[in-house]
Amino acid sequence: MKNERVYLDHSATTPVREEVLKAMWPFFADAFGNPSSVHSDGGAPKEALARAHSMVADVLGCRPGEVVFTGGGTEADNLAVLGYARSQRHRGNHVITTVIEHEAVLNSCRQLEREGFRVTYLPVDRDGLVDPYGVQAALTDETVLVSVMLANNEIGTVQPVAEISEIAHQRGAVVHTDAVQAACLLDLNVSRLNVDLLSVSGHKVYGPKGVGALYVRSGTHLDPVVFGGGQEGNLRSGTENVPGVVGLAVALALAAAERDAEGHRLTELRDRLIAGVLSSVSGAHLTGHATRRLPGHASFYCDDVSGESLLVNLDVAGISCSSGSACRAGSTEASHVLTAIGLPTSLGRNGLRMTLGRGTSAEDVDRVLAVLPGIVEEVRGGIAV
Ligand code: PLP
Repeated sequence: MKNERVYLDHSATTPVREEVLKAMWPFFADAFGNPSSVHSDGGAPKEALARAHSMVADVLGCRPGEVVFTGGGTEADNLAVLGYARSQRHRGNHVITTVIEHEAVLNSCRQLEREGFRVTYLPVDRDGLVDPYGVQAALTDETVLVSVMLANNEIGTVQPVAEISEIAHQRGAVVHTDAVQAACLLDLNVSRLNVDLLSVSGHKVYGPKGVGALYVRSGTHLDPVVFGGGQEGNLRSGTENVPGVVGLAVALALAAAERDAEGHRLTELRDRLIAGVLSSVSGAHLTGHATRRLPGHASFYCDDVSGESLLVNLDVAGISCSSGSACRAGSTEASHVLTAIGLPTSLGRNGLRMTLGRGTSAEDVDRVLAVLPGIVEEVRGGIAV
């Protein structure tokens, strides 16, 4: 058995790929110029910025001008939700989202409520799925925006976004999807998803942190949320993070090229992990949909054991995983996603998430399965904390 650590927290973040680092490097070094500069030093960064727009557009199946680079997934979500709703206030003041969205969307919606918007937070079923008919029932003439994530960060469930979009479009609402978790392993083609706004983040796709992108369908008007020199079509002012957007573009292109093969590989490993945990850990239950889930995403709750105590003991055993979302790490509150799928508050702290990625092998999965049953029993028996 190898002694290196096993990293099973790819939903929290991913290591930057070698090819991505290589592509970014020149823009920290010789090609350091400002892409807005008129002199020669602005040339290479300006070209790289344009190339990054094209590369991301190729992955999304859109035009380069429909891609807006942002300072991460959170900022892309904020720009989509706040930017679109605010620009449409004259048309209507209703927004629809779901109870299991990431805080980047939920807290943007709460801000809209403070500004006088009405927000409907749709429930999900026990598998974490949003019912498209629930969207239909919630739509009104006042609804300007529907925001439903493509895949959930805590339980991995993949939503029927294209179906939801079809329904929302019939009533004239614009559709945003937070594809931050989905970006590495799911199809991001915006025509097939039928969405108007789509967010991605660099650090979930083996790219850098602090850089993201928002697809904005041509003709969809947004109010900016960051004001300044008018970069990115006046939608995200600030000198462009050239190394960052180059890294994001290369990482997304590589992920798209490897998507099918890596998706199959990770689905097999994920199912081996899920089957192993459910058969060897007493009182362990899967969270999220059994099949409509992200390829590398395995999530559970265990009776009578908090997720926090499991992850601390797994950490000591050399395994990195999490109890839920990285944003809630260290929180003792029940997960809003686990309570949304029907778990009582007492079990909402028992989430355990193991997310597999490029470096994960069958040996890693077996190492988890070798130690987890014992750790659960020791915690239950009070032998471990
Ligand atoms: N949306 C989802 C579903 C996420 O999982 C995350 C990060 O965990 C974000 C948005 C925020 O992205 P970023 O960390 O790039 O701000």
